[in-house]
Amino acid sequence: MTAILITGGRIIDPANTLDLQADLLIEDGRIAAVGRNVHAPHVAEIIDAAGLIVAPGLIDMHVHLREPGLEHEETIASGSRAAVAGGFTTVCAMPNTDPCVDNEGAVAFVVNQGLAADQANVLPIGAITLGRKGEQMAEFGQMVRAGAVAFSDDGDSVRNSGLLRQCMTYGKMFGKPFISHAEDKDLAAGGVMHAGAVSARLGLPGMPAAAEEIIVSRDITLARMAGSKLHIAHVSAAGSVDIIRAAKKSGVAVSAEATPHHLALTDETIASFDPNFKMSPPLRAADDVAALKEGLRDGSIDCLASDHAPHEREEKELEFAFAPFGVIGLESSLAVYIRELIAAKVLSWPELIAKMTLNPARILGIDRGTLSKGAVADVTLIDPDLQWTIDAEKFLSKSRNCPFHGQSVRGRAVLTIVAGHIKFRHVPRPA
Ligand SMILES: [Zn+2]
Repeated sequence: MTAILITGGRIIDPANTLDLQADLLIEDGRIAAVGRNVHAPHVAEIIDAAGLIVAPGLIDMHVHLREPGLEHEETIASGSRAAVAGGFTTVCAMPNTDPCVDNEGAVAFVVNQGLAADQANVLPIGAITLGRKGEQMAEFGQMVRAGAVAFSDDGDSVRNSGLLRQCMTYGKMFGKPFISHAEDKDLAAGGVMHAGAVSARLGLPGMPAAAEEIIVSRDITLARMAGSKLHIAHVSAAGSVDIIRAAKKSGVAVSAEATPHHLALTDETIASFDPNFKMSPPLRAADDVAALKEGLRDGSIDCLASDHAPHEREEKELEFAFAPFGVIGLESSLAVYIRELIAAKVLSWPELIAKMTLNPARILGIDRGTLSKGAVADVTLIDPDLQWTIDAEKFLSKSRNCPFHGQSVRGRAVLTIVAGHIKFRHVPRPA
């Protein structure tokens, strides 16, 4: 029997509305006790967590691990090492790989590579349509049997509304959410940044917020017709937040996520023409950022996800207009959330932890995101005050396209435990 005792930390477990200074005991990979002065005679390790937050293992439900197909940008092993270094014990892998994860064998491959890497839990998301081409429904039942936790054509929305309705109507029996990459590709065609005052000034073609709002609205309407669960990925526009808020009020089973970059950055950054500020959906205006924060505060936006999107350096060094969309986030996102949401007094610590643990676990229907007695011991220790500098050159991810590189930040994961095993320990560099 292996046991770890974590003493004197601030235990935050939103599932049990716990926020107290106490000890946490892990035995045989499960949470054995939470309380003051926990008695444990045979522990293998005692961890002093004074001054640290002890949270359920963080969950990032939107990452791109690039395997199979683009292993020079990321692999399931490198991505899951980056995940635990960022405090994440569970990540969901989007299916837009090459080949696409649209069948049982491909889902099983991702599951097995995740198990072989033996770092974070890697949960595959299966495509909605074969090859993400938007023409034919993928085999939902077979993918779910192999371990798929959601369905998404991320990178594209399913352009054919009739087909998406069929997919939702048939797919709802599996109880998994459909994750919407909300982008009307016809309306956004040719755009490289948010359409607004800044794109006009810079003379770059824009992607209007309406391209997102139209698909958010359409997908909510289709989910209401089909009675399926819908999750809106990377919400970026103020109008989308309003649509989601109204839909929730009317009882539609819709949830939503926001990313670190859409909370921290605006389209003004594009004036630098640095491709590390190029993503889809694009960085938008200050009003949109304010609306996202209000949406997080009032619960319209349920969770936080990085949309970790590795790209090789050569590609990201292309001229802005030709560089690919997307930035990495697994090793920087927690610090950015702390700055934009905790330091800025948008959320309390328990609210932030809920949006990174309990809420994504509920949306995905997985038995994670809690420190309840008997639960699998996925645990993250966070030092909320640790000052450090984000240095993409030192990331465990294979890619370096981080828009926060060089920034001085406060707060990071210092210990990450997956099923009772320590997978990451932050070793401070000597001064
Ligand atoms: Zn997307």
